[in-house]
Amino acid sequence: MKPRELSMAQLARVGFLSRRRHGNFIDGQECEPASGAYLPVVDPATEMTIAEAPDSDAADVDRAVAAAQRAFDGAAWSDLRPADRERLLYRLSVLIDDHADELSALETLQSGKLNALARAIDVGSGAEFVRYMAGWATKLEGQTLQHSIPVPPGARYFTYTQREPVGVVGAIVPWNFPLAIALWKVAPALAAGCTVVLKPSEETPLTALRLAELVIEAGFPPGVVNVVCGRGVGAGAALAQHAGLGKITFTGSTPVGRAIGHAAVERMTRFTLELGGKSPLIVLPDADPDAAAQGAAMGIFFHQGQVCTAGSRVLVHRSLLQRVSDALARTAAGLKVGSGFDPQAQLGPVVSKRHFDRVMGYIDGARHDGASLLTGGARALEGGCFIQPTVFTDVRADMRVVREEVFGPVAVVMPFDDEDEAIRLANDTPYGLSASVWSQNLSAVHRVVPRLKAGTVWVNTHNMLDNNLPFGGVKGSGMGRDLGRAAVESCTELKSVCMAV
Ligand code: NAD
Repeated sequence: MKPRELSMAQLARVGFLSRRRHGNFIDGQECEPASGAYLPVVDPATEMTIAEAPDSDAADVDRAVAAAQRAFDGAAWSDLRPADRERLLYRLSVLIDDHADELSALETLQSGKLNALARAIDVGSGAEFVRYMAGWATKLEGQTLQHSIPVPPGARYFTYTQREPVGVVGAIVPWNFPLAIALWKVAPALAAGCTVVLKPSEETPLTALRLAELVIEAGFPPGVVNVVCGRGVGAGAALAQHAGLGKITFTGSTPVGRAIGHAAVERMTRFTLELGGKSPLIVLPDADPDAAAQGAAMGIFFHQGQVCTAGSRVLVHRSLLQRVSDALARTAAGLKVGSGFDPQAQLGPVVSKRHFDRVMGYIDGARHDGASLLTGGARALEGGCFIQPTVFTDVRADMRVVREEVFGPVAVVMPFDDEDEAIRLANDTPYGLSASVWSQNLSAVHRVVPRLKAGTVWVNTHNMLDNNLPFGGVKGSGMGRDLGRAAVESCTELKSVCMAV
């Protein structure tokens, strides 16, 4: 079957899409955008419009933040015990699992991603993360503290800290893992007792809207989770600048993150920024070269390279360069590109025609700059946004394909001669999200890991996240952490109490 037929067959089974034109979801209800304007949602495998979602503006954002504020203040939410929030989150996780077919099909339709991936990550890990965060609702704590207050002489005090929810959390998320990253933002906020206004990417609003319905079905009061769709310059900017937020949490590109950070500081709104990456994968001389080449292929071609932690710079000790490059190119050339609904496909389309043109621009630019193409470099299938897995070598550190985040299935391979040079190349980037080290030599690993400027370092693996392991970047890759205890604590303020006794 051609991708289009597969996609349309699946579409017919996704009841949510029978409502082709979707509204925002505010105060427990679907509602039209104030402007009456809508944007198409396009299936990148077929380039067909599958639905429409609001192109919201500041009026819609105001309405959503007001609903979230009312819900935050209202007894239906604020009087809940932590155990009640835990139970609601647990119910939501069960509903996400129960709707795995529908949610993963929506995800494949709107983003092109492999259906198995949507099922495993967006839905499967997403539901597990909600369960994980359900547990945190009952485990937030403060401390009783020793103190040394000397006045007045002989006075005694009791000092302690307690955590309080920050209020309304604004969440702006990208298109690469639309449901999973939305849940990374929503679940900790709810566990902490906050309410949420979520703005999904204009490319991929459908699973966020369906999630909002499931939140109500789980029993959360109306207004606790609101979804406002639209473009970054409209709804996104209005949310980022809204005075009613206690916190803004953003995942996306570094330039947008920087603007959101500025807007947040202006209002002293708390913020978390998960931004771009240009992650190195470092193959030391004592690595298993075949395992490293397989790891490099997974590191860059997983989800067509549209992963913030993608191992886009493969740094290989010169003694292994030929072997690792050949194996990586061979693996790349053997990967099957196809529709996300094709169970044999190993790479789907990239998210949109606009992004297809952007990635192809980097490929053409690398060729023009004199890089050698080891494999790929062209459109993979006629029709749809399919790009061949691509590997370049003979690159220079100043080339755009080496310096900038391509966010597509494009790797560069670069040699190094010693550990110092490997570290220098690895850290020679404005980003600092992740890195991986490939080696069988424990001493070398322990020498290298502390010298890497990255929020996450993997050893003999790449791209592995866990709900309990904090995730975030240093340098241009952002501030703050998603996942783990850090995520829920970042939705709270720490209040210090000092009581004279
Ligand atoms: P993007 O920055 O263009 O958009 C992300 C979100 O921000 C979207 O919802 C968009 O509508 C909104 N937005 C855009 N301009 C805005 C503005 N001026 N004000 C407010 N909101 C605005 O990024 P993208 O293309 O959707 O996603 C890809 C980027 O996300 C890559 O850079 C990738 O590395 C990054 N990313 C990072 C992580 C991480 O955890 N560090 C995870 C996934 C993706």
